[in-house]
Formats: sequence, structure tokens, C-alpha cells
Amino acid sequence: MSQTIDKFNDYVMPTYGRLPIVLEKGHDDTAVDENGKQYIDFGSGIGTNSLGYASDKWVDAVCEQVRSIQHTSNYFYTKVQADFAAKLCRKTGYSNVFFGNSGAEANECAIKIARKYSFDKYGKGRSTIVTLVNSFHGRTIATLSATGQEVFHNYFFPFVEGFVNVPANDIEELRRVIAEDKSICAVMFEFVQGEGGVNPLDKAFVDEIFRLCAENDILTVADEVQTGMGRTGALLTSMRYGVKPDITTLAKGIAGGIPMGACLAGDKCSDVLVKGTHGSTFGGNPIACAGANVVIDTVTAEGFCEEVIAKGEYIRNKLSEIPEAEGVDGMGLMLGIRLKSKKAADILTAAADKGLLILTAKEKLRFLPPLTITYEEIDKGLEILKGLLV
Ligand SMILES: *Cc1c(COP(=O)(O)O)cnc(C)c1O
Repeated sequence: MSQTIDKFNDYVMPTYGRLPIVLEKGHDDTAVDENGKQYIDFGSGIGTNSLGYASDKWVDAVCEQVRSIQHTSNYFYTKVQADFAAKLCRKTGYSNVFFGNSGAEANECAIKIARKYSFDKYGKGRSTIVTLVNSFHGRTIATLSATGQEVFHNYFFPFVEGFVNVPANDIEELRRVIAEDKSICAVMFEFVQGEGGVNPLDKAFVDEIFRLCAENDILTVADEVQTGMGRTGALLTSMRYGVKPDITTLAKGIAGGIPMGACLAGDKCSDVLVKGTHGSTFGGNPIACAGANVVIDTVTAEGFCEEVIAKGEYIRNKLSEIPEAEGVDGMGLMLGIRLKSKKAADILTAAADKGLLILTAKEKLRFLPPLTITYEEIDKGLEILKGLLV
């Protein structure tokens, strides 16, 4: 057994099921462990290393930033944060942004905006947020409360009040809840539920959310922590659905593997958070912003998102040749593979052994490869998977 693993287990809280692999370094699509074994990575640190491991341009930008200024409090300005905020807002069509350090924090910000928007306009009591069954919004007490999965509503009582759940794609139930409950201020959803099992929302359901919300002055909040920043083949997945949420949250891949969360607000709610109402010591950290500038430049370059879609289609086609793979859900390079008889968790372990890192989501295998993955690496990874799915 590795000394690192022993030390780790002695001193780090055992909150995760980990594979017995100590990753030491990586370049582009390949990770290397402490014994020099190489892995093709179809998980990219749960979609965070969106440009792969230590890709050249990203490393240069991040290192240059570290050498100039690594952090300053938010009582000052930095050019790198201004540059990223401007690029992000202009390219997504949002008015302004609040920076935090994680998906949960981005969603906390969204929840605060939704509730204060309603408080400012209607006073107390209009504070309920509709979220979807099987959603995942984070691990803080508020975002766990928002998460529509009973397994997460344990131990840590009391949870935060003011969240009701509707099953994804159930238009009738959505209509009923919004008609009956006059305390609703927002509907929050993932376009493709990630942790919930890679379940895309139906276009008709999304359209109904937007219709009902517009009619009732209810804010639409898209949690694009996993689906955003090019993952599904557009800068934002809302662009693929042809809608514009009032609030969009981003994290995971936004800075290419440095912690960052962002909460984007549209015209309607861009002046809700004012001085003193929210904050984060590390939010908008210059190193994270330097990484994020490279990510957004890469993702918005001519033809990049089309390529993400093409690679996703390529993987789908290849998987259709594997009988054990019953079907593939998802969009772009966010894919969930339904298996006929094998257990996804067993495949994940066996794949790591053979040099392929993948993820699971509920009973499915999940792929979130670097957006820059090459066809050659896709082929190599799928070849390993094919060997395990016979
Ligand atoms: C991962 C994830 C979160 C939580 O992000 P953290 O950075 O772990 O706080 C929230 N929402 C969605 C959709 C996610 O996939």
C-alpha cells in the first residue's frame, strides 16, 4: 500500500469513496500516478480540468499571474478579474457577475438574489424556490436543502426552509405547484441533471418553466455548474435550449481546474445585491481569473463548440457498437451510458486498473472528458471500455 494513502487515511476525513490511485501529474488528456502508470481521463476531475491536465497556454497564464499578484482582498480591483468578468458577461449576454469559489457558493448567491429580488418588490414571505426531483445543487446546508434527493436530507437538521420539489419533465405538476403556491420566487434547475444521472430536461418542460415564470414574475435560475462553459457544446446550455434564464450559475470547468464559482445576473436582477449584502474573501481570485480567461478564450474560439458536439456524437456512435451499452443520454461531452447488466461502479474500478478514468452517475457510467480531448485519446479510452463491456 502506498505511504501516501496510509497518511491520507490517517489524517483526512473519510468523506469520499476513493480509488487507490495517487495522481502525481498530467499533461493534456493523460494523468500519471506515483508509480508512473498513465491514465486516459474521461472524467477530468469531474469536469473541472476542462482543457485537460496542465495544458501549455493555461499553465503559462496561471504562472504569469502567480508571479505578479496571487491575491488581493475584494476591497481593491484587479485587471484580470475585470477582464474575465467583462468577457464572461459579454459572451453570455448577462449584465453582471458575482464570483465565489465553488458551485455551492454560486448557487447560494443565486438563492440570495432570488429571495432578495422578491423581498425588495413584494416584501416578506415570497421566498419559496422550486427545485427538481433528482437535482444536485451542492453540499452547504442551503444547497443541500435545495437538492431534490431525500438521501441528502439527513443528519444535519434543521435544513433550510423554502424549497419544494417537482419531478423533472412533469409539466402538470409544475403548473399545479406554481398555481397553488403564491410564495414562489424562483424555479431552479439543471438543463442536464449531472449527479442525478445525466438526465436532460425536455425542451417542452423548459419552455413551460419560462412561460410560467414570466407570467408570475418568478425568476428562472439555471444551475450550469456542470453543464456550463462549453461542456454540452455551447458556452451555456441555455443557448442550446434557446432560453435566457434570469440567473445562471457556473463553477466546475470555468477556470480549468482552479476553484471558482460564478453567479450571472440578467437585467431583471442585476441590481439586487448591493454593498454589504454578499461577499467572499477569495471570490474572483486573480489566479482563478487568469485560468478562466484562457478557458473562455478557448471555448469561444471559432468552431470549438461545434467540435465538442462532433466529439460527443463520435463517442455515441462508437458506443452504439457495444451491445452491453443500452443507450447514451446527455449532450455534447456530458454523457451517461446506460448498461444492460453490468454495474457502473464495477466498470469504473476495472477501467482504472486498465488505465482509463471514468465517472458514474447513479446507475450510469458518466463521461466528462476534457473538452480538448483528441479523437486518438477517445479511441484509446473506448477500446479499454469495450474490453470491459463484453
Ligand atoms: C458539482 C455541482 C454543484 C456543486 O459544486 P461544488 O463546487 O462541489 O460546490 C452544484 N450543482 C451542480 C449541478 C453540480 O454538478
